[in-house]
Amino acid sequence: MDHLGRMRRLQEQLSQQRLDSFLVSQLSNIRYLCGFTGSAGALLLTERDRRCFTDGRYTSQARQEVKGAKVVVGRTPPLLAAAQWLGKHRRNSRSRTPQILGIEGEYLTVAAQKRLKDALPAGFRLREAPPLIERARMVKDTEEIQHIRAAVVVGASLFPTALETIRPGVRENEVAAVMEYAAHKAGAREMSFATIIAAGCRSALPHGRASEQPIPSEGFVVCDFGVILAGYCSDMTRTVYVGRVGEDARDIYEAVREAQQAAIETVRPGVTVGEVDRAARNLLKKCNLAKFFTHSTGHGVGLEIHEAPRVAAGQKEVLCPGMVITIEPGVYIPGKWGVRIEDMVLVTEHGREVLTPTSKQFTAL
Ligand code: ZN
Ligand code: ZN
Repeated sequence: MDHLGRMRRLQEQLSQQRLDSFLVSQLSNIRYLCGFTGSAGALLLTERDRRCFTDGRYTSQARQEVKGAKVVVGRTPPLLAAAQWLGKHRRNSRSRTPQILGIEGEYLTVAAQKRLKDALPAGFRLREAPPLIERARMVKDTEEIQHIRAAVVVGASLFPTALETIRPGVRENEVAAVMEYAAHKAGAREMSFATIIAAGCRSALPHGRASEQPIPSEGFVVCDFGVILAGYCSDMTRTVYVGRVGEDARDIYEAVREAQQAAIETVRPGVTVGEVDRAARNLLKKCNLAKFFTHSTGHGVGLEIHEAPRVAAGQKEVLCPGMVITIEPGVYIPGKWGVRIEDMVLVTEHGREVLTPTSKQFTAL
């Protein structure tokens, strides 16, 4: 990974953003920039300096992992250590203009901001920095795409296991447990999120985590799952049917499948994510199902399961090559059932590549 390049590009933006320094506290942003994967860290960037602060538990791990920045192991929490370091090394300490320290306001609690302020000497001012790292992370480099592909393959390999396990009477969380065991055996360190297995009327809950409920004798089962490999997440959803299939089940499934396909086909460089969302919504409108599509069409995926861009109504972010997003429209009829289909899609030079290899044919078990 080109950690040094990532940090340098950010350093080059500091003066343009009118920041003297930038204190990165969000852990996956720290990982993205310098490679450190520990749970206590702060990365301080000035125009000339790159320092990763951590505590004694991570001394050897940080020395091994951090690339392109100096490791500082402190006795105080990393944020405060960074503040103290800044105080000691401030430039032009006699200058009257305040030194502006950029922070990640989205991730720093009010209490943490106060502690930081108290630890800084006079003459420093905190300012919420724009989401520079989140923007950089949207576009994946070749190595990141390789990791994502590998995570997608392992994630997709769990679906046949789900199909073998799903039958009436088996508890949802038993299906999830079998899938998660298979994931760990296949080399995944963690799941991207708690596996969603939502059967029968629970399939109408867009985020129905696997529960104690047994799978009923008839209805949809929504399976939404993913794994983390080498730090990168995968995410996919397939919905299958158990029991006797009626026309209405087939119709709703096909509507979602067509909506998903319509959204996928709009993906190409230069298109806004709002347009991708609209393609899915328009298709469902034609089937009078749009009001049951209650969430956004997708999201970026990478080091985190949900990252920029949000593929949602009205969003102006423009797709460009290297972005990896999900396309996951769903229809949820409260108290009855729900269907969602989700793939991961890579934006290529001229269009898109659907990374998820799994069939979307209507499947009845
Ligand atoms: Zn998902
Ligand atoms: Zn998703």
